[in-house]
Amino acid sequence: MSVDPQPVPFLDLGTLHRERRTELDAAMGAVVESGQFVSGPFVDQFEREFAEYCEVAQCVGVANGTDALELILVGLGIGPGDEVIVPANTFVATVEAVVTCGATPRFVDVSPTTLLMDLEDVSSAISPATAAVIAVHLYGQMADVSGLAALADRHGLALIEDAAQAHGARFDGRRAGSAGRAAAFSFYPGKNLGAFGDGGAVVTDDEALARTIRCLANHGRDEDDRFRHPLSGRNSRLDGLQAAVLSVKLRYLDADNAGRVAAMAWYRDLLPSHIPPVATAPKAAPVHHLAIVRTLERPGVTRVLDEHRIGWGLHYPVPCHVQPAFSTFADRPLPVAERAADEILSLPMSPRITPDQIARVCDVLAARVPAVI
Ligand SMILES: *Cc1c(COP(=O)(O)O)cnc(C)c1O
Repeated sequence: MSVDPQPVPFLDLGTLHRERRTELDAAMGAVVESGQFVSGPFVDQFEREFAEYCEVAQCVGVANGTDALELILVGLGIGPGDEVIVPANTFVATVEAVVTCGATPRFVDVSPTTLLMDLEDVSSAISPATAAVIAVHLYGQMADVSGLAALADRHGLALIEDAAQAHGARFDGRRAGSAGRAAAFSFYPGKNLGAFGDGGAVVTDDEALARTIRCLANHGRDEDDRFRHPLSGRNSRLDGLQAAVLSVKLRYLDADNAGRVAAMAWYRDLLPSHIPPVATAPKAAPVHHLAIVRTLERPGVTRVLDEHRIGWGLHYPVPCHVQPAFSTFADRPLPVAERAADEILSLPMSPRITPDQIARVCDVLAARVPAVI
């Protein structure tokens, strides 16, 4: 076995941060000088910038993406007795938020081509108890929000977006975060827009909902009277340091996303036909948070990637309705999600990944002759 010259990391944040180190240091230094560490002017500024970026009126910075989802649900008055439709193929946080607010998750299957929420299955899962649908924009590609918004309108449901993997994506011209009643974003470091720790945001055009969520996220405190607490809330605020870092990194988000789009195009050109990438829907303009392929012999493929020091991941190998924590809510098998969970594989993806690196990954994959087709 020949040893490759350099490993290919699954995600390379170091290169980006080194390039922007001066700006990032200056931004963090300004927060240290000001002493405004929790909420305050740096958070206010980032909220304005991110709302504008998402093409919505309101942004509320919160502690993480999971809280963002849960605060939207609570802010909409969703709780015990309500059902919320969620895709089986998502990160567990989508489902956790539903369970934590006391509502019942109803799992639906995904499309075999995009692995995103299947519209017909959503339609058949609607019951008199359904209060909301959470559209998850997984891997950087938005779910069919045009179809979902029409369906939600017809049945009087709230359409909530889980946009934690889709900062800057579009579907049919609409920005992630602007297509539903409200959207949750995560700024976990590995996301397309990542902080230097945990962070999240709710974006919405609904001013009253934004005010409620801002209140809930700050101990239920009245915005105009700090000693009055009209709601029983919690502590889920965004830090000033994180907001300052995010303001710097937001300026590069479109360029970074363009790097990911170019990388995915190289993958499409070079991947062997027995390891195809997950499809992009015609109306979608994804930002490729992850480069997902499918393989019928994943254990062999990952072993070869390890031998060549090529990073990889699994998103996600156990569908949520099969997880021990949530299986009590599963009411039927979801065959598309279950099959995909055994076949999906995440390949290296970063804004600065090079054509040479992608060629090396694809050469290694192509050399691995499939045992079964
Ligand atoms: C990351 C992620 C979340 C949760 O975000 P945190 O900031 O880690 O709480 C929710 N949904 C999806 C799809 C995610 O990828």
